[in-house]
Amino acid sequence: MSNVRTTGEGCNRCDSQLPRFISDHTNDTSHLVSHVCPRSLAIGDAPNFDGGTFVVVIFSVQPAMTTAVGVAGIIALGAWRSKSLTQHGACAAFAVGVLAMRVGWAWGAFLIAWFALAALISRIGRRVKLARMCSVVEKGAERDARQVLANGGVFALCALQMLIVAQIDGFSIETHRCLEIGAAAAAAGALAAAGADTWATEFGTLIGGTPWSLRERRRVAIGTSGALSVAGSLAAIVGGIILATLAAILHMIPFTAVPAVALSAVLGAFTDSILGAWWQERRWCPQCVMNTEQVQHVCGMRTERVGGVGSLDNDVVNFLCTLVGAGLAAATVLSQPR
Ligand SMILES: [Zn+2]
Repeated sequence: MSNVRTTGEGCNRCDSQLPRFISDHTNDTSHLVSHVCPRSLAIGDAPNFDGGTFVVVIFSVQPAMTTAVGVAGIIALGAWRSKSLTQHGACAAFAVGVLAMRVGWAWGAFLIAWFALAALISRIGRRVKLARMCSVVEKGAERDARQVLANGGVFALCALQMLIVAQIDGFSIETHRCLEIGAAAAAAGALAAAGADTWATEFGTLIGGTPWSLRERRRVAIGTSGALSVAGSLAAIVGGIILATLAAILHMIPFTAVPAVALSAVLGAFTDSILGAWWQERRWCPQCVMNTEQVQHVCGMRTERVGGVGSLDNDVVNFLCTLVGAGLAAATVLSQPR
């Protein structure tokens, strides 16, 4: 730990007179907090990062509003131009991005990495997947605002909680700490669950073969909600582990929280499959004589609801998947000894 030394001065965020750590790289003490600082937005413990001080400094910094707006704006615009998002989808992603960036670079970087991975994976074998799924799934590869909020809404609410908690002085230090750790674990769990589900769908469609329906106990058309394949299930597990690890590498959550967040993400993704199998709205195209999720089928015919709960569509199911990932991750991480 050659590049970190301690100082006995008080924390310049919260008036505490506890020893804290100072970086020789930047001489910046404000973000390297070795005590439990109620003003700190970083939950990683700086003294544990041997040799990684510079990274800690960067990812613990809260970017200015202009930087947050600029970075989120450029990415949302790029995603719209590259047809990863629709116009409304880009606006929703921009709002989620600004919230994440305002919490800190760690949150912003995790959101960017999550989105980049999702966009990359959805592009692998895109034509093959579209051809296999276009008559079954509700929406195409371009994500709209509803889809963005279904995947990123819970994450955005967690970011909002972080920003509000940082402004409140009335809580005890321990309460502050719990609210921040809980929000960070929930945010990572929510996005990791959405990611695990996306990875399962993308790889399952491409290499999973004909999936098995949980409800009907038979093989069904590729892209059917609530149908599983071995490749898709493995992709969900690998995706959950990779995304949880990424959240820790980017200092959004401590490394000790990775197993809990990864497991919560995978359980969230499987909840998506169970909800998709039994409760998600199922529709039927009388003209093509086939099951679909589309209200207006690709053939132009209006479809009929033949099962499931009305208006419980794929987006609502995705939102519930992230909610399960978030809730399980927060509960597990907060119950761990700190
Ligand atoms: Zn049709």
